[in-house]
Amino acid sequence: MTLTIAVVGGGFGGTYAIKELDRLRSAMKLDIQVLLFEPRPHFVFTPLLHEVATAGLEIEQVIIPFTKLYDGKPWIRCVQRLVTKVSTSKHTLVAGGKVYAYDYLLLATGSVTNYYGNKKISKNTVTLKNEQDAEHIRLRLEQALLNAAKTRDPAKQGAALSIAVVGGGPTGVELSAEISQFLQHRIKKQYRMINRKAPTVQLFQGAPVLLPYASPRLQDAARKALSKRGVDVILSAKVSTVTPSSITYERGGEQNKDDTTLTIWVAGITPHLIKGFRENYYLVKEDLSLVHDDDCFAIGDAACYDRSCMLAQTPALAQAAVQQGTHVARNIVRRVNGRATEPFLYRSKGFLLSVGQRYALGELETPFGTIFLKGFFMWWLWRTIYLSKFHDAKQRVKNAASFTTKLFTKRSIIKRK
Ligand SMILES: Cc1cc2nc3c(=O)[nH]c(=O)nc-3n(C[C@H](O)[C@H](O)[C@H](O)COP(=O)(O)OP(=O)(O)OC[C@H]3O[C@@H](n4cnc5c(N)ncnc54)[C@H](O)[C@@H]3O)c2cc1C
Repeated sequence: MTLTIAVVGGGFGGTYAIKELDRLRSAMKLDIQVLLFEPRPHFVFTPLLHEVATAGLEIEQVIIPFTKLYDGKPWIRCVQRLVTKVSTSKHTLVAGGKVYAYDYLLLATGSVTNYYGNKKISKNTVTLKNEQDAEHIRLRLEQALLNAAKTRDPAKQGAALSIAVVGGGPTGVELSAEISQFLQHRIKKQYRMINRKAPTVQLFQGAPVLLPYASPRLQDAARKALSKRGVDVILSAKVSTVTPSSITYERGGEQNKDDTTLTIWVAGITPHLIKGFRENYYLVKEDLSLVHDDDCFAIGDAACYDRSCMLAQTPALAQAAVQQGTHVARNIVRRVNGRATEPFLYRSKGFLLSVGQRYALGELETPFGTIFLKGFFMWWLWRTIYLSKFHDAKQRVKNAASFTTKLFTKRSIIKRK
């Protein structure tokens, strides 16, 4: 009898689990089918979204349609619907009003932005989680430039181009550097009437350091690189309120208020859970199956770990979701074959981040120890590694050609009519 494996969420964890299930199905001649539930019609390569937000890349370069990904594989069926209910006791789930039965369930629903319950912040900021957010930020930056170009008054130009990014993790660092360079590039090429000193890009970080999970050397290098690119880094700043035109934060016991025209909130995430899920969160055991259900697994940003177990060391990163997706696929196949599952152990492959165009920082884990690299070569490596992660070979080739062209042409420019 054909076994049904339901995968909820077509992000990094879900798609890499399916990739491994597909491989094992062929290698072991397994009689399985996969149902992928995902409201989006495509996979999104999130680590490159900050470049979409700043016109370094186009949306088509960071998405892959599922129809293309699973073309010619009838055992993988995509249901373009949100899963709204799961009954682990009945082994069924509900999506788009229809009930689907499963033998094994994989929850890979990712995360949503965490506003820590502050409604003012969620209302008055934009975030960067998906391609729509990236497009929105791009439009807001273009609008800010247009507004600044309407006046010759340097103070008004400065007010129109005051951008705040909240969150000094990898996304905040990469995005603030790109925005600063993007504005400078546009002013130089297209908006010469705007004073080059008008834009301000501030990066607010609650902790006393940037990139809390990186080594002190990388933290320091990131701060220096940001400063070189004109980003004003404000550490130990606890942002309390954001309005459409200001940001208020506490620092060293003092309340401060700065003007902003756009505030981007990338200061935390929280698991994206299916509403009404029995346990209310996906608490997993060491083999990534749920504490209360051996047939149901959870991975990636959505999974919750007991603080005392080794899993608690797993970061909310694409490389962790990918490793877990592959591991869970193998565990499911072990279960199908009547074998015991194995615990998951996260292996860091290092830390890579771009700080503006043509500059990246990285710490790579090698058999000889950790290697620290920075500069153009690291940036090239960063792009090459990301490129190799695209599931689709044709897209890899297309993006390689485009990335190479970009080396010589820099950013795209939207022509003003
Ligand atoms: C801007 C940005 C930059 C990043 N940069 C890096 C980086 O440089 N390096 C790195 O390692 N990590 C990076 N990350 C983190 C990385 O993207 C995540 O850790 C990773 O995507 C987690 O994978 P996942 O499978 O758990 O979730 P996701 O990849 O987020 O996928 C979850 C999917 O589940 C779907 N879903 C949610 N609920 C339901 C439901 N009820 N029914 C059906 N589908 C549902 C969503 O639509 C989504 O497609 C970045 C993230 C962002 C937002």
